[in-house]
Amino acid sequence: MSELAMGREVDRSKMTVSDEVAVEITNMNKWFGTFHVLRDINLTVQRGERIVIAGPSGSGKSTLIRCINALEEHQQGRIVVDGTVLSSDLKNIDKIRSEVGMVFQHFNLFPHLTILENCTLAPIWVRKTPKREAEETAMHFLEKVKIPEQADKYPGQLSGGQQQRVAIARSLCMRPRIMLFDEPTSALDPEMIKEVLDTMIQLAEEGMTMLCVTHEMGFARQVANRVIFMDQGQIVEQNEPEEFFNNPQSERTKLFLSQIL
Ligand code: ADP
Ligand code: MG
Repeated sequence: MSELAMGREVDRSKMTVSDEVAVEITNMNKWFGTFHVLRDINLTVQRGERIVIAGPSGSGKSTLIRCINALEEHQQGRIVVDGTVLSSDLKNIDKIRSEVGMVFQHFNLFPHLTILENCTLAPIWVRKTPKREAEETAMHFLEKVKIPEQADKYPGQLSGGQQQRVAIARSLCMRPRIMLFDEPTSALDPEMIKEVLDTMIQLAEEGMTMLCVTHEMGFARQVANRVIFMDQGQIVEQNEPEEFFNNPQSERTKLFLSQIL
């Protein structure tokens, strides 16, 4: 396997996992109409964990993480996020969405708003943060993702890698306790993948709880404490990265790894 050159050392010493539970999913099932898309999902995520979710296209990875911030409704079982049980109660959904940040493959920035406005919109309108304070926070996170100088531009004027870093900064402005990533680098040109992964590594080093759907196995090896393999709506196997890559247990995992590595 080619080890992804991240361009800097990854400091694992700061990436500590606590005993506190961030997400708990118990016997969860979901259907799209008659299609049983997620089957008996059981997953506990401790605070500080960095989990990579891998698996073939159509295996349910996106649907699983979308259930965690209630972008999709589940029909059976229980999902508890940060102590809040996910139900169709809209109040809960607002609470969960403000604690769980999500970054998508296609950055989903608002094209008619500046970078700064993209970052301040939700804090001002959802969190009722005063504009001035929201702008200060936005600049803080734009500095963190290393593009403060782009604040007054529009998304269309930025590269894909820059837009994705804005999307990450925008999420962080809501001060989430958990970050979900759904193939954040899949739409990027190769030379821009690294800058986004570096941003994600930095977040991991700061102790953020992260669930990342990604095909970047170099990232998984360096940053994840656990890799989860999904196939046909099920969690087939999970392990720490070294074991997962060097000693896969199921035939489906072996086949998948032989195709991507
Ligand atoms: P992955 O992210 O692993 O590629 P998804 O979670 O996107 O998989 O999709 C899992 C399965 O559910 C696929 O077969 C997909 O076609 C189907 N699916 C996803 N979203 C919907 C939807 N809104 N309605 C019906 N089927 C869907
Ligand atoms: Mg997907």
